Amino acid sequence: MSRKFLPDLICLALFAVAGLVIWERGRPLAEVDADVPLVMPGNGEVDHRFDFPAAWDTARIPTATRFDPPLGTEHLGLVYNAQKFWEMNEARGGHHTGDDLNGIGGMNTDLGDPVFATADGLVIYAGEPSQGWGKIVVIAHKVADGRTLHSMYAHLYRIDVSLGALVSRGEKVGIVGTANGYYPAHLHFEMRNGEGVDIGAGYATNPLSHLDPMGTVASMRNAAVDDLSGSPLARVLTK
Ligand SMILES: [Zn+2]
Repeated sequence: MSRKFLPDLICLALFAVAGLVIWERGRPLAEVDADVPLVMPGNGEVDHRFDFPAAWDTARIPTATRFDPPLGTEHLGLVYNAQKFWEMNEARGGHHTGDDLNGIGGMNTDLGDPVFATADGLVIYAGEPSQGWGKIVVIAHKVADGRTLHSMYAHLYRIDVSLGALVSRGEKVGIVGTANGYYPAHLHFEMRNGEGVDIGAGYATNPLSHLDPMGTVASMRNAAVDDLSGSPLARVLTK
């Protein structure tokens, strides 16, 4: 082939490629992906409702025999529930999907407090799905009756565990945050009955897989309440 035609050929090839790209982009998605199941992740975005742990990860989810509160002391001392599960929030147009746990000092006094894994489990999500959610950790637990439950810890300032890690009850998963300044510091804590990781919304009209978080922890607490020790001053005075 004569070298004279080479630049023309290269130009022709480039036009052909550009034309193909434009044509492909202009085609409706349904035509391009006709044999791909509907509502699968597209355009490089991940839809976590379809983000199921792999079979070998599912096998790694430990059976949890005891659940503790995720904030404050292991007997839920030093904490109050500012917005309980399924309370109606007119401003948000739905029911609250979790419990909002706060340090008893209120407002931002609990900013940076440790957040604990409620039970032994496998970290199946660790990331920031949106500015309003802030950083989130989701842990999967198998329970005695065969169900898989998920605990979710939201609005974190920092995440201290990684995806795929096995965590023990009471292990620090992160610290309390404000979801990028959207709210006064608190822990939005959820419990769900489920398999796939669906972050969803903080307010909903249908509970779907959502469980009463602190009610679930209490029902699977499986630990006796400790006697409270006397105050330090009382001990000094009685010596
Ligand atoms: Zn909340």
